[in-house]
Amino acid sequence: MVVEDEPNIGALVRTYLDRAGYRALWVRSGEDALVELRRHPIRLVVLDIGLPGIDGFEVCRQIAGTVPVIMLTARDEEPDRVAGLEVGADDYVAKPFSPRELTARVKAVLRRAERVDQREVLSVGTVTLAPAAREVRVDGGEIELTQREFDLLEYLVRRAGQVVTRDELLERVWGYLAPGETRTVEVHIAQLRKKLGQPGLIRTVRGVGYKAAA
Ligand code: CA
Repeated sequence: MVVEDEPNIGALVRTYLDRAGYRALWVRSGEDALVELRRHPIRLVVLDIGLPGIDGFEVCRQIAGTVPVIMLTARDEEPDRVAGLEVGADDYVAKPFSPRELTARVKAVLRRAERVDQREVLSVGTVTLAPAAREVRVDGGEIELTQREFDLLEYLVRRAGQVVTRDELLERVWGYLAPGETRTVEVHIAQLRKKLGQPGLIRTVRGVGYKAAA
């Protein structure tokens, strides 16, 4: 969730997070942030300090410990950065920031925050994935996948039974918007099927996309 009252910055941050494969919800005030946090399974909050109504510090004070927070601070305002960390922020990014830097911070904070999920195991049929360890097993035997193949398989397995389009895969797994470059997806799917040795696990839904199913 992005909490930012400046339209340009809010839109920019959301766009970059979407491109990085996250689904970003953007709200414009601290009050809205507190309401939306209760309504959605938010994994991380990017929080501006200067907001209409209750400010970022107060929001952070209320939510710290329940969800990771990255504060957006004004450059060279050391007191803001220190205060942000004191009220429980996990990290901060100084304005003006590069969207890439922010995305990198988001990834790093999520990685740290979600270590508790290290034991998570996903499975479809005889294929099991341990995302934290990045291990894939077929019938109990480990197989080697490239990073992209793993991400692709994880994306499909997390949505087992649902059809996923090639454009969605490009956007979410490759992290950029390149509709039309679906050949890339097809090549990786073919490779993945070969390595899994289970051609039926990732099904082609003609004219639409793919579906992982047991
Ligand atoms: Ca602001």
